[in-house]
Amino acid sequence: MSDLVANRIRGHAAKLGLPHLAASLDQLVARANTDKMGYLDFLDLLLEEETGVRDGRRFRTALRLSRLPHHKTLEDFDFAFQPELDVRKVRDLAALSFVEAKANVALLGPPGVGKTHLAVALAVAACKAGYSIYFTSLDDMVSQLKEAETIGRLPQKMKSYLKPSVLVVDEVGYLPLDRDEANLVFQMIAKRYEAGSILLTSNKSFSEWGQVFGDEVLATAILDRLLHHCEVVPINGPSYRLKNRFTALEGGANVA
Ligand code: ADP
Ligand code: MG
Repeated sequence: MSDLVANRIRGHAAKLGLPHLAASLDQLVARANTDKMGYLDFLDLLLEEETGVRDGRRFRTALRLSRLPHHKTLEDFDFAFQPELDVRKVRDLAALSFVEAKANVALLGPPGVGKTHLAVALAVAACKAGYSIYFTSLDDMVSQLKEAETIGRLPQKMKSYLKPSVLVVDEVGYLPLDRDEANLVFQMIAKRYEAGSILLTSNKSFSEWGQVFGDEVLATAILDRLLHHCEVVPINGPSYRLKNRFTALEGGANVA
């Protein structure tokens, strides 16, 4: 390939927004020569590589914008530590048909059992598959919505919780809400109903949600929409946070 042609290809590639082709033309051509590729195979390689780079970039940007607290995956999760957890159910969820169906997932259990970890892992999987995701704690969402309401921007703020394909709502039930706050949550849940998935974690059983939302009728209305299409994943086991402490104590080590 002459320098003239190569430079022209690089110029066209840059103009067309194909940065990988512009940067890796020589390597790609060398690979085509080594593998004795036909025209179709070579074109396929070019487009595949370009798409791969683009997907990778999109994934990294989407992860950055998602506000996930970390990027732990299912591979980082020690299922043996949580023997009562239904591994198959979690793996099925990671296949993401719930996102396609605009259904919800509720991870329920006491502190430290890995609810947030699993919610994040499923969100990362969804992000990788090209779905938009957003992470918030319930309390943070409520205070954001309240603040927006006081300055007359509730609809705009609400949109940021309605737009993503998967909204992770972490820590439902840690702090009780008053009636107005619970009403904001109801509005969000009602608008997302059959329109987009909610992945929530809670340390409270559904029967306790009346106390969380300060109103039985409102809690029932929220649960009605939330649970119509919902996979419930109970995690009843030991806290992973305390794991090392117990091991240390059993070993007689000094624990501060
Ligand atoms: P929860 O949200 O239920 O309170 P987290 O998901 O925040 O608990 O878990 C607490 C910490 O322990 C996190 O750092 C998480 O990654 C880790 N963790 C919890 N369960 C497991 C597990 N089974 N395997 C590996 N790490 C775990
Ligand atoms: Mg948590």
